[in-house]
Amino acid sequence: MTQELSGQYATHDVTNQPPPLSPYDASEDAALLEGVRREGAGWAEEDIRRLGMRAGSAQAQEWGEQANRHEPELRTHDRYGHRVDEVEFHPSWHHLMRVAVAEGLAAAPWADERPGAHVARTAGGLVWGHTEAGHGCPTSMTYAAVPVLRRQPELAKVYEPLLTSREYDPELRVPTEKRGLLAGMGMTEKQGGSDVRTNTTTATPTAEPGVYTLRGHKWFTSAPMCDVFLVLAQAPGGLSCFLVPRILPDGSRNAFRIQRLKDKLGNRSNASSEPEFDGTVAWLVGPEGRGVKTIIEMVNCTRLDCVMSSATLMRKTLVEAGHHVRYRSAFGARLIDQPLMRHVLADLALESEAATTLTLRLAGAADRAVRGDDVDGAEAAFRRIATAVGKYWVTKRGPAFTAEALECLGGNGYVEESGMPRHYREAPLLSIWEGSGNVNALDVLRALSREPGTAEALFAELALAQGADARLDAAVTRLKGLLTTASEAGARRLVEQMALTLQASLLVRHAPTAIADAFCASRLDGDWGHAFGTLPDAADVDTILGRALPGGA
Ligand SMILES: Cc1cc2nc3c(=O)[nH]c(=O)nc-3n(C[C@H](O)[C@H](O)[C@H](O)COP(=O)(O)OP(=O)(O)OC[C@H]3O[C@@H](n4cnc5c(N)ncnc54)[C@H](O)[C@@H]3O)c2cc1C
Repeated sequence: MTQELSGQYATHDVTNQPPPLSPYDASEDAALLEGVRREGAGWAEEDIRRLGMRAGSAQAQEWGEQANRHEPELRTHDRYGHRVDEVEFHPSWHHLMRVAVAEGLAAAPWADERPGAHVARTAGGLVWGHTEAGHGCPTSMTYAAVPVLRRQPELAKVYEPLLTSREYDPELRVPTEKRGLLAGMGMTEKQGGSDVRTNTTTATPTAEPGVYTLRGHKWFTSAPMCDVFLVLAQAPGGLSCFLVPRILPDGSRNAFRIQRLKDKLGNRSNASSEPEFDGTVAWLVGPEGRGVKTIIEMVNCTRLDCVMSSATLMRKTLVEAGHHVRYRSAFGARLIDQPLMRHVLADLALESEAATTLTLRLAGAADRAVRGDDVDGAEAAFRRIATAVGKYWVTKRGPAFTAEALECLGGNGYVEESGMPRHYREAPLLSIWEGSGNVNALDVLRALSREPGTAEALFAELALAQGADARLDAAVTRLKGLLTTASEAGARRLVEQMALTLQASLLVRHAPTAIADAFCASRLDGDWGHAFGTLPDAADVDTILGRALPGGA
């Protein structure tokens, strides 16, 4: 044995570093499992637990890491100069996609008659998202495309069974010859994304009814390797929605020229492209001139997924932080035993539980609304307003949350191999796409003023917790006052209050007293600082952490 191998010349021993977190169970989360049962998907618990174990396995975590390290590459031409417009992905991406589609995280719930199927999908996303976030983009758009496609029954008849399939089939072929399809969407153009009415892409009718050709550009179209895309373009009758296949029924390539892939802050496993259309064949979905109204149903679904993905990032980074502080010591004591660190973690745990609980409540509303299982459309009205409220607030909390969780790991958290920078970079995106912060806040105002029943649905939900906590009752009264003076400039303030009051009401009804009490004391009562870790001294931190951290605290 050489001296070096025997360790004689080693400069130091590795101490005070945590063991690897994996394998761990990403579904070991009381707030998640209780929410799943409450919202009608208790029958899926075994699958969610199985998926949670798989998500936390060393192999799946490695896929997540590799899919982001080895980014997709665009190949515009083949070696002979023909346009091919292919995006090549690392095998890890395909592994992640295969599991996600097989586990029903794309559009499968639309073909599942069991009440709670949409909740089960959301819960699956909450655990499988512990691997990485990027591949949640094509699965989300595929999920959201189905209700839009139903506006054109003859197209839905052909494509819906393939979109709802649990088979991942990444080959570029005639869609109807494949075992499963993925859908993307192209709305945003250079001159505007929030205001899609400014779209300049044109749609010219052909001699065949319902068939058009498109000409123009899109500035953002993610997951360009999808099989079909919902695209907005200006037809003679105004902005309209179209279905664009990449391969035409005769096997030829549709004109879908990918000019570039975006060099993004995060979400790097996923490709986001700039496609050009020129003579591109497109099929009309919904009436001409009603493009926004047609595609808006998609937004209800993708916004739910933004809330879900933000809640997932919170939970994942909280689990990472909790693991680190359990094994790391400083100044003679484990970090997890130090009072100030416990307050930081407990504050994060409250935020995470509130986000998860709201996500599952929104999924339950979506499930009942799309099935028509709700009395007098009350769940549909609640879904409409609460999804926009949740999208605004939960995604806004993501960046601050992930930054704080990252800091629990100290310098190690700032280093890529901890995985925390990747989660941190992902967080702001969830607030940008599917309606940026201001656009979402203004959408809440629009719903309140123009869509009857939405305010009533929200207050009916809040009334279910009436009398349980005086701070919550006072917050509901305050909220009613704020509504009477609602203005565009004050929209963020109003929506923030709506979100906090709604989260508090859900926790008061469903979470242990320690959680609900600390949430109301901090988020509703003004006894809270501006950074995480500023809970009132009286907060029952031991109970909060015992519930939140796997293995207790
Ligand atoms: C990684 C990534 C992937 C994407 N993938 C897709 C995709 O697949 N398909 C697709 O169609 N799009 C996609 N997008 C585009 C995304 O949906 C848009 O960026 C988003 O909708 C905002 O549009 P915009 O960028 O044009 O910003 P703008 O519309 O120019 O908005 C800029 C800012 O102004 C604010 N604002 C807008 N209107 C108002 C107002 N009335 N009052 C106050 N503030 C206002 C917005 O909130 C925003 O903060 C993607 C974006 C990213 C970053």
